[in-house]
Amino acid sequence: MSSEPLYGTPRVHRDPIGPLVAPLVRATTSGQPDTEALRACGAGERSGDFYQRVGHANGRQFESLVAELEGADGAVAFASGMAAMTAAILTFAGAGNRVLIAEEIYGGTSGLANVDLPRFGVHVERFSSLDLSTLDRALQRPARLVVFETPINPTLRVIDLRAVTDRCRELGVLSILDGTFAPPPIQRALQHGVDLVVHSATKFFGGHSDVLAGVVAGRHALLTSIDGFRRRTGAILAPDPAWLLCRSWPTLPLRLQAQQAAAMELALRLRELVGRGPIVGVSYPGLPEHPDRAVIERQMSGGGCVVSFEVAGGLPRARAVLDGFHVIARAASLGGVESLATLPAFTTHAALDAAARARAGIPDGLIRVAVGLEGAAILFEDVVQALAH
Ligand code: PLP
Repeated sequence: MSSEPLYGTPRVHRDPIGPLVAPLVRATTSGQPDTEALRACGAGERSGDFYQRVGHANGRQFESLVAELEGADGAVAFASGMAAMTAAILTFAGAGNRVLIAEEIYGGTSGLANVDLPRFGVHVERFSSLDLSTLDRALQRPARLVVFETPINPTLRVIDLRAVTDRCRELGVLSILDGTFAPPPIQRALQHGVDLVVHSATKFFGGHSDVLAGVVAGRHALLTSIDGFRRRTGAILAPDPAWLLCRSWPTLPLRLQAQQAAAMELALRLRELVGRGPIVGVSYPGLPEHPDRAVIERQMSGGGCVVSFEVAGGLPRARAVLDGFHVIARAASLGGVESLATLPAFTTHAALDAAARARAGIPDGLIRVAVGLEGAAILFEDVVQALAH
């Protein structure tokens, strides 16, 4: 893993004179100085505020922060992570096109792949990102794009970005990564050849469990098309959540650093219980024995902020442990300042039966903890007392 300091993340650049926080502009439309300006704005020949669905100051501020963080030409922000992923796919794939979507992907994206894309005539083929020979086979026929995720939820396996993007680039296939679980500087996906990185900004970028948002970052040529799709379909991020995301930005590196350090410590402490109690195994990309260690060293600067562990006794025991938490909230999502726990068997992977979950490496006793800012000692104590229930 690189030793790049988390504090090196770009901050919001402020003029120290005048209001230190950008104003929130809720106006849906802006008066133009003359008819020619109105015409030029409408024709897209002139930038600036015109109509909120086309773009607005708070959204642009958030997009430029994401672009800078990702080292991208730009970014396009949406009303949710799923709106961002939908736009990234549907901008480039339509009826008759083949798209390749990893089995190991967020449940919402799986739903889009299985239910909606086929309704629009898009041919969806799933592959296993854990076995890239399945991608090689799928790429033997023309495809428009590949969608995958790393680190993978909830197993926290890590996929080799270069291995996927080199294959795609050689064939002119677009690569789209869901990078939600490891935002920069933990993982700089675009530097590893990914064409478009999508984030649920609801998670770490928002960071306070009070904003729903999504964003796509990449090269200008691709983003111009995505921006056009957003104008036509209308899922733009609104000014209020955009303002909140900018509010969250200066603390992003601090939150990531503290949450990641706590996740590492929690994983190490939980690992000490393996074989000596009810914990069967711990999965965390920061652990030296992680099966994808070599890939992690190449493409991540830390293990991230999510830890999964398996308790003996399957679903009944995992339920009891979850019910026993006093500090860790039983809640979906991740990336906020509060630690949250879920049972993947009941949430993201409930649609699979126990055997299919086991094949995907998700035992029923698996508990996912998204680590917040309470501190590792408090979280460990909470797990230990819950295990005693
Ligand atoms: N991708 C991942 C990995 C997620 O965890 C989520 C939400 O949980 C999404 C995408 C969808 O984001 P949103 O809920 O902002 O639409």
